[in-house]
Amino acid sequence: MEYRLDLPASQERVAERLKAALESNSFPQAVLITGSAGVGKRALAMQLARILSCTGEKARPCGECPYCRAVRPEKGESPWLWVVPLEGSSDKLEKEEDRREQAKKTLVPIMSDPWDVGAFPETGTIRVESIRDVLRELGRRDPHPRVVLIPEADRMAAAPANALLKTLEEVPENCHFVLTTAHRADMLPTILSRCAKIHLPEATVGEVGAFLEKRGISTENLDQLWALAGGSPGKAVFMAGETVAEARALAMDLLEWTAKESSLELLSWWAESAGRKKSAGASVLRETARHAASALSSLLDDLMRLNAGLPVRNSAFESRLRALPFAGEGDDVLVWMHKELLKTARHMDNSVDPEKVFLALVLKWRNERPRIDLSLVSEKGGA
Ligand SMILES: [Zn+2]
Repeated sequence: MEYRLDLPASQERVAERLKAALESNSFPQAVLITGSAGVGKRALAMQLARILSCTGEKARPCGECPYCRAVRPEKGESPWLWVVPLEGSSDKLEKEEDRREQAKKTLVPIMSDPWDVGAFPETGTIRVESIRDVLRELGRRDPHPRVVLIPEADRMAAAPANALLKTLEEVPENCHFVLTTAHRADMLPTILSRCAKIHLPEATVGEVGAFLEKRGISTENLDQLWALAGGSPGKAVFMAGETVAEARALAMDLLEWTAKESSLELLSWWAESAGRKKSAGASVLRETARHAASALSSLLDDLMRLNAGLPVRNSAFESRLRALPFAGEGDDVLVWMHKELLKTARHMDNSVDPEKVFLALVLKWRNERPRIDLSLVSEKGGA
């Protein structure tokens, strides 16, 4: 039997492991795919779902059996595949029919372009009812293999996670759960311990370049784009627009303002960008803000790399990074700054005013960082 898994060379070890499990008929019934946003988790989940449900005799997915042919990506329909939808802040999924609709809406981008990192609301959560819907479906006997996808599985609070737990412990025959998350640390340990883990490493510069070329996207500044996207092909596509350069410059400026004593410059930037906002339009601004958030994350990573004596990825900014007064501070402070940044990124979707959100972040970084630092120093001193 040939299992058709299409993964880049940097993920070959993952592919080998998965194929070995499929060949020996011991593929785990609950798997969790981890890795950064846009690195290919949903793309792999979809490939696995197709393989697991295919009845082809020589190769899977065969594209010819009734199960392969029943997939309708444009409608989000597939008789053997369920997805647990996210509920965004403007959605109301109290009724089962609304949840069904939302599940279809969730499947369309997963089936048609699983690499789209902007497909789901950044603040969405998973309702306990959505988990129960899927478990009810699985309760019906069916001789054919069925697959449940749970993208962004870290968005399950305690109630939905607990509803899922018992089933994960003893997954019904012929059923498979495929969970994905970019935030493994946010997952409940009880869920983690019941899933086989598959981690997707970042793609190489060449792989991201080939991925962009396939989509007809220019690979000019590929090294910078790769650094900014943290080796994630999906993020690189998302960031390839013209706003990238502006966003990177903005991110570096924000880091420098974090280190300044006076708020005056920050306020003049704020006034200037408020003027720019009127001309740019909200969607362009939001895109720049998202890119700036990714750029900040990449720059903070570089500060950690400097601490560890590793080469930085945003080499154009190396001297400015080294000049930051907190460049030499410990990783604890940088980890805290990163956490605050993640919180900010999650607010961005709902905010009408992305700059205001950044302004709040920079002020928080500037005002609370010294205290974080001190408290850690005293903790360490006491231990
Ligand atoms: Zn098939």
